[in-house]
Amino acid sequence: MIWKEILIRYGELSTKGRNKNDFINRLRDNVRYSFNDLMPLKIRAERDRMFIEIENEEKMNILMERLPEVFGIQSFSPVASCEKDMEKIKALAIQIMELYQDQNITFKVEVRRTDKSFPLDSHAIQREIGGTVLRNYQNLSVNVKKPDVELRIEVRLDAVYMMAQVIQGAGGMPVGSNGKSLLMLSGGIDSPVAGYLMMKRGVRLEAIHFYSPPYTSQNSLQKVKDLANELTKFGAKIRLHIIPFTELQVLIKESVPENMTMTTTRRMMLRIADKVREEIGAMAIVTGESLGQVASQTLESLTAINAVTSTPILRPLIASDKLDIIEIAERIGTYETSIQPYEDCCTIFTPASPKTKPKLEKVMHYESFTEFDEYIERAVKNREVHILPEKKVQEDKFADLL
Ligand code: ATP
Ligand code: MG
Repeated sequence: MIWKEILIRYGELSTKGRNKNDFINRLRDNVRYSFNDLMPLKIRAERDRMFIEIENEEKMNILMERLPEVFGIQSFSPVASCEKDMEKIKALAIQIMELYQDQNITFKVEVRRTDKSFPLDSHAIQREIGGTVLRNYQNLSVNVKKPDVELRIEVRLDAVYMMAQVIQGAGGMPVGSNGKSLLMLSGGIDSPVAGYLMMKRGVRLEAIHFYSPPYTSQNSLQKVKDLANELTKFGAKIRLHIIPFTELQVLIKESVPENMTMTTTRRMMLRIADKVREEIGAMAIVTGESLGQVASQTLESLTAINAVTSTPILRPLIASDKLDIIEIAERIGTYETSIQPYEDCCTIFTPASPKTKPKLEKVMHYESFTEFDEYIERAVKNREVHILPEKKVQEDKFADLL
């Protein structure tokens, strides 16, 4: 294999000094996390780029496959290297440009020479290598202004490095560089997408899910775990808080008029989420709400629901069309899981005709006859916490015993 390392170009980088270091350190940690299975991984982080050493083809293939999912990377390139000898440099250039030999494309050679003792200067190397490539591949022609492919050669002190391919990264910012938020994760299509978009903005997530056994099954719980698991592949572990919600749902049904239950249910969910958020030190709550999609997502509903807290509620999908959301869900791999037909705690208790324009004063009036606080406390206290991805320690232990 000719490739020696992968060069990573940083994404949207704030130019401010300390933030820049934070961004780079985060990205390095996240890369380590994403390629945990490839350890040890030699990563060298410089101010404007990062290098990952590759020792073999298997490592290379895995890196090429998963790097496009890591946020904070603008683009990356496999880098080859050879000794500082003109014949070897030519041979490597021919090998690399072989990738493009069947296409009618233009190229240019760009040389950077840090080792000033190398006998040829940049221009001379450029000319020689350009000529060599042209002689070997008839389909290729030179275009110095706007080439399809740029063959970059660096003559450094230790060796010569060469690259041509530039692969698009995921962009965004490294997960964790913009603080932590709590994602309200249902089993639906929208909330995993909302979580993904916030992660892309550098937000680390914990997730909260409300379930109502025995009305909701183990399958629907597993579905939510699977969804949270899908999100972990974008560069961070996720803690999932599972809230037993049956007791409160039953109480709500008994306490407020039927057409108000949906609004009150959402308000209680948000109150619980806000308590968990505070406990875990997250700054905001993320939901998959999208304006006008269902009764609970009109501006009036959002107002009545939102009134229980002053915590920022981030709704990255508020202006998105369903079809666009589905497209993202398919691309990030959550769609197949989301459409599994398991019941949700909300669908089961959903009234036939929920109010689409609930008035906050009315909702508060109906809620005022019931003491919800102790139920909320209990739900928070009795939550189950899972860390994803789940380590299969138990199974491995068994495997050893068998
Ligand atoms: P989704 O596809 O995310 O389920 P939806 O369009 O079905 O969204 P709703 O079911 O009204 O809309 O939910 C709106 C938002 O409320 C969800 O995106 C999610 O953030 C939150 N939510 C709903 N149900 C739950 C639940 N059981 N646990 C946690 N959060 C929930
Ligand atoms: Mg839903």
